[in-house]
Amino acid sequence: MALRILRGAEVRALLPMADCIEVMRHAMVAASEGRAVIPLRSVMTMPGERRLGSMPGYLADPECFGVKLVSLMPRQPGVAHSSHLGVVVLFEARHGQPVALIDAAEVTALRTAAVSALATGLLARADAGDLALLGAGEQAVSHLDAMRVTRPLRRVRLWARDASRAAAFAAREGARHGLRIEVCATVADAVRNADLVCTVTAARDPILCSQWLSPGVHLNVVGSSIAAAAEVDSATVARARFFVDRRESTVNEGGEYLRALAAGVIGPDHILGEIGAVARGDLPGRLSDSDVTLYKSLGIAVQDLASAHELLQRAERAGVGQVVEF
Ligand code: NDP
Repeated sequence: MALRILRGAEVRALLPMADCIEVMRHAMVAASEGRAVIPLRSVMTMPGERRLGSMPGYLADPECFGVKLVSLMPRQPGVAHSSHLGVVVLFEARHGQPVALIDAAEVTALRTAAVSALATGLLARADAGDLALLGAGEQAVSHLDAMRVTRPLRRVRLWARDASRAAAFAAREGARHGLRIEVCATVADAVRNADLVCTVTAARDPILCSQWLSPGVHLNVVGSSIAAAAEVDSATVARARFFVDRRESTVNEGGEYLRALAAGVIGPDHILGEIGAVARGDLPGRLSDSDVTLYKSLGIAVQDLASAHELLQRAERAGVGQVVEF
């Protein structure tokens, strides 16, 4: 039995963002059509706020199954570890052999941003290009990559709670992309008149208020990926045409949705549907230029599996990675 091991740098080289967006389009449509098995993720909590997350899943096309295992740990001062350390284990579906072991941090950064780009392509105004990024971590890096692929950006503003980290991000990523990134002192400054907003922070309580947002904006709400966290306030949720990666995940784990529901400002019918249904053409996205659209990302296993499957195909063709015989 041969198992191929792919490191983070190999993941980055094998699957460019634009290609990953198309892989995600296919996977999200498959998920919305029921051609996947996606249990809710399980999280084991350990002493010291340390957690082990497990995300199993099955995908019918391309047929495969597997699990992502990631540790979620409080950040140690001065240690620059990924927020999601772990592996994606991919199995082939005929005999049940594990065929790939892939760096989960890189897959997570890539696939999450790729689905946000898919949602942006489907929901944002055609002329959107004034981006506000809230947060300056790994997801901010991959979301800037993804937004650049999906829309020509006229302007990029960044807010992060630590001004020195925001400045370092703006210098490093601005140079990488050859664009100017404006660092803003407040969230309100960052999102004023923006037509694309990505929230990619680990905030537990809302950092973004509806009154700062302009009509017509599209939001990718990504960082708050557990029930206990919400990055945007309930008024934003109530005001938006609200789309999700997966309905079942959202009603169980969607912090913003659950808070708005508890506050009585929305009902269960506020979830218009899954982004896969919009991609399939079954569900209208934006109805007018003044709509506020919101894509709520929680992350689902088929995103990891479809990425892993594509990575394995490409790695086999290119002879990349380390092959271990059991
Ligand atoms: P990083 O640790 O690399 O970055 C986190 C960012 O959030 C940093 O800018 C950090 O600021 C900021 N932050 C932390 N706490 C707060 C707070 N209370 N208020 C405002 N900003 C805060 O993590 P990632 O970029 O990898 O992930 C970001 C978030 O996205 C996490 O919550 C993660 O769980 C979630 N996520 C969601 C996924 C999905 O599929 N939806 C997939 C992967 C991640 P500072 O540098 O000052 O600490």
